[in-house]
Amino acid sequence: MAQKNKIIQLHEEAVRDPLTGLFNRRYMNLLAEIEFKKTKRYSHPLSVLMIDIDHFKNINDKYGHKLGDLVLKHVAHEIKNHIRSSDIPIRYGGEEFVIILPNTTKESAFILAERIRNHIAATPIFVDGMEIRCTVSIGASSMEDCPETFEELVNNSDKKMYLAKQSGRNRTII
Ligand code: GH3
Ligand code: MG
Ligand code: MG
Repeated sequence: MAQKNKIIQLHEEAVRDPLTGLFNRRYMNLLAEIEFKKTKRYSHPLSVLMIDIDHFKNINDKYGHKLGDLVLKHVAHEIKNHIRSSDIPIRYGGEEFVIILPNTTKESAFILAERIRNHIAATPIFVDGMEIRCTVSIGASSMEDCPETFEELVNNSDKKMYLAKQSGRNRTII
């Protein structure tokens, strides 16, 4: 039993980001190929959200790296709270998150993104008597844009996320 638990733990460590508990990028690449092929084959919808914390460098500078880490955990928690068990949440980079949304149209992805975004903007983190607020910018794209590869699908979401930054942050662009 102890051996089995150890194997489960090793597996978890291989696929998850230790800070947030979300899946890591390596695991995303593995799953992505499977999801992408399934989607193409059965013509199911598939969407991807790219989420980036706004001015996160300022949060680190103002409150320190440790509290910055708490903000990352908080955002990851909000993401987990809003998705279905079939959705795949990933810590994509430092303060960037990806959510793969199987069987989800672009329109539904937008509604989910806005729910997550609004909730993060409205929920401060209280730590050491301080109130820390943060916002996120989100880009969404889907198979409706006819990407050739999963990488292209993610890049499309990334481009929309940058548009969200350019047009003022704390918004979702599809
Ligand atoms: P923008 O609104 O344009 O996204 O601005 P930004 O400050 O969020 O973007 P930028 O890419 O300049 O800064 C990202 C920061 O994220 C810089 C880096 O120090 C911080 N960061 C990356 N990984 C971690 C981490 O694991 N913990 C903490 N505390 N900070 C991290
Ligand atoms: Mg970033
Ligand atoms: Mg950022």
